[in-house]
Amino acid sequence: MFKSEIKSKTYEDISILIKIDNHPYNYICDCGDASDLTVKEIQNTNAIFISHTHIDHFVNFDTILRHQIGIQRRVVICGPKGIAEHVQLKIKGYTWNLINEDAITYEIREILSENNILVYEIKPPYWELKKITKIQDNIIFKEKSFVVSAVILDHKIPSIAYKFVENDTVKIDISTTDFTGGKWIAALKEAFLTNAAHQEIIIRDKSYIAKELFHMLHVQKGDSLGIIMDHAANEPNHTKIKEHFYQCNKVYIESFYKNEDKEQAELNYHSYASISAQIMKLSEVVEAIPVHFSRRYKEDDVTTLIQEFETALVSNE
Ligand SMILES: [Zn+2]
Ligand SMILES: [Zn+2]
Repeated sequence: MFKSEIKSKTYEDISILIKIDNHPYNYICDCGDASDLTVKEIQNTNAIFISHTHIDHFVNFDTILRHQIGIQRRVVICGPKGIAEHVQLKIKGYTWNLINEDAITYEIREILSENNILVYEIKPPYWELKKITKIQDNIIFKEKSFVVSAVILDHKIPSIAYKFVENDTVKIDISTTDFTGGKWIAALKEAFLTNAAHQEIIIRDKSYIAKELFHMLHVQKGDSLGIIMDHAANEPNHTKIKEHFYQCNKVYIESFYKNEDKEQAELNYHSYASISAQIMKLSEVVEAIPVHFSRRYKEDDVTTLIQEFETALVSNE
């Protein structure tokens, strides 16, 4: 299960923190100014996902860097074409003569095009970008219990939308069977996952064929969470969103403008309340949350914008 939290206050730039059940690390999506993000949360972060490097999404990277120096771990940074150089240029704005080489290593995964990721490594004190490998996939990040895939949206520049998907898990309700727990459960689940239907399973010294016991298992679908930042409200973007985020459990989606400022949205390659909600509805997203509102909006405007989003989400049009 993913636990996500917006760490920026309403009038700050956007930053979202993701935690995962039974997983020791945090994940940061976009580095907008976020006063609710704590030093501990930053230090415990394993990867940072950047949609694009407009200043409102990248300004707080300096603070994150400040708190991560000295954690002596590898931290992954994912982002669009150019992200490696942008990270390097930010870092090189400071002086590093007192920092050891092992203070931190950043691994930067740069999405050059769909299914084409170039991976760099950069570390103190010289912070030279070293190419280490290529990934030919849209899976940009993988952990034991979940994966993150990326899709490129158009915001006049590439803007990356990310989807976190937890692995499905195999469950057993032992109380509905005639057996008691034991090591055989793990063996049975393993046989199920690896399609080893004829595997021998021993329960209390008695031998069974795995497939005879498969009926006791059921698959629990993994959680899914989408982060869709700045994007133009156009057909190619909407097609990609519908495909990539179809039936996601929860999605944060940029809704920068109110409906009446639709022309501004078109001009600035942004989205607006009702169209962001409509695309979430068409994508059959279970919970859709509008985020990242124009800074010129007062409290009343933001309330209206959220209402417009909610109205479009439940309308039958
Ligand atoms: Zn932007
Ligand atoms: Zn923005």
